[in-house]
Amino acid sequence: MPEFNLTNLEQIKNQLFQENLHAKKKFGQNFLVNENTLNKIVETARITKDDTIIEIGPGLGTLTIELCKRAKHVISVEKDKSIIPLLKKNTKQFPNLTIVNGDALNFDPDHYFSKNPINPNFKMVANIPYYITSPLINHYLKDQYLKKQKINVQSLTLLTQKEVAEKISATPSDLNILALNTQIFANPQIIDFVPANHFFPIPKVDSAIIHIAPLKTPIITENLTKVFQLISFAFAQKRKMLSNSLSAGLHLDTFTIKEELQKINIDPNLRPENLEIKNWEKIAKIFL
Ligand code: SAH
Repeated sequence: MPEFNLTNLEQIKNQLFQENLHAKKKFGQNFLVNENTLNKIVETARITKDDTIIEIGPGLGTLTIELCKRAKHVISVEKDKSIIPLLKKNTKQFPNLTIVNGDALNFDPDHYFSKNPINPNFKMVANIPYYITSPLINHYLKDQYLKKQKINVQSLTLLTQKEVAEKISATPSDLNILALNTQIFANPQIIDFVPANHFFPIPKVDSAIIHIAPLKTPIITENLTKVFQLISFAFAQKRKMLSNSLSAGLHLDTFTIKEELQKINIDPNLRPENLEIKNWEKIAKIFL
């Protein structure tokens, strides 16, 4: 009998079989079965003994165990109720772990910390389904800042689909709404790519480890609601030049838009993916 090790594919299959469970598509369940990748995620998060960690989607607890060994407190939020008994069994030796059954997109860290007096400046670490990456970043970065002018999360270390990680860290010429939602508040960095066969079941796409570090002060701090409104106008017609897409969104004629953009030294023929982030604030000041 090999040592108990959740990155061992046979042991994961056995556990699921014994509990009459299977990896569920609707919860985006692809369990990590590679020790090198597991170590890389944990190293990237730079966890210390004082840290509070919020983990999203612990699954069978593979990453959870490594987090519990290193951090002071770990709060793991898992949506799939049926997997929780097995998760509890696999992690029972860790008194510093709290398992929360719920949707990470509804989890309110402020509410949690108001009831549990532990260090509220947490790090997030998660191997998550790609389709919750964008709402998750909005929930823990953008919405936090819009609500409180403050971001509690110290860093996010995420394992997500490679294309999503690339979108998050795109630069001008290739910017998109997800990149702007992230980069106004934080600095994303792709740490490494992870092949699909590091997961069970093997997904159709490769993944990447991405580290997102919030900035001390966001790139844009004023008029943020207006800024996001403009961004959504512009990207609603992203193949068009700014003068055209903004004209449609703002119900102003193209000529006026062109003139105003030129006054602040922004080329009206640019497409939204080319615009430096800071310039969105300048545009918002004029038009909204
Ligand atoms: N972290 C584990 C499991 C990854 S699979 C590992 O590395 O092996 C993704 C996990 O996220 C599953 O356990 C799934 O049930 C959970 N999940 C999916 N959507 C979620 C949501 N909205 N909130 C919390 N957990 C979610």
